[in-house]
Amino acid sequence: MSDADDAASPLVEGRACGACHLCCKVFPIPETGKKDDDWCPHLDPAAGCSIHDDRPKPCREFFCTWRYDPSLGDEWKPCNAGFVLHDPPPFELLITEDVDKPDAWRREPFEAEFRRWARDIASRQRFVGVRRGARTTLLLKDREVDLE
Ligand code: SF4
Ligand code: SF4
Repeated sequence: MSDADDAASPLVEGRACGACHLCCKVFPIPETGKKDDDWCPHLDPAAGCSIHDDRPKPCREFFCTWRYDPSLGDEWKPCNAGFVLHDPPPFELLITEDVDKPDAWRREPFEAEFRRWARDIASRQRFVGVRRGARTTLLLKDREVDLE
């Protein structure tokens, strides 16, 4: 959805989407009729968004957590990790899976970090969640709870 041309503070300096594009797959874009888990028809894998100058508002505004958080290394880049991180309320962190890489978040070092974050934020009524299409699971400090 996003590219380095859009980078502005507080995005991590020198960090770019490059060939990632995973947010152009995992999220629905109502403005274009794109559904969850389908590659956007406007994405050219080699050249990026083919409607870049006219792309919808959600595409213009979105950057994943990897673009903001300098503590997340290259293994956390969505195209490497197999999931996209962002923070829509009430989530402190929402893990949106790539449907073609189910449970990639359970690989280490990821799962241990997600469990630690879930423990650390438990007292603040903030949550770590995992979204797979229409299904969302809360990672609580001692268990996982599927939301309806
Ligand atoms: S319109 Fe462009 S930026 Fe938005 S999802 Fe499609 S390819 Fe990505
Ligand atoms: S998922 Fe993140 S790194 Fe990948 S294209 Fe989207 S904003 Fe860029």
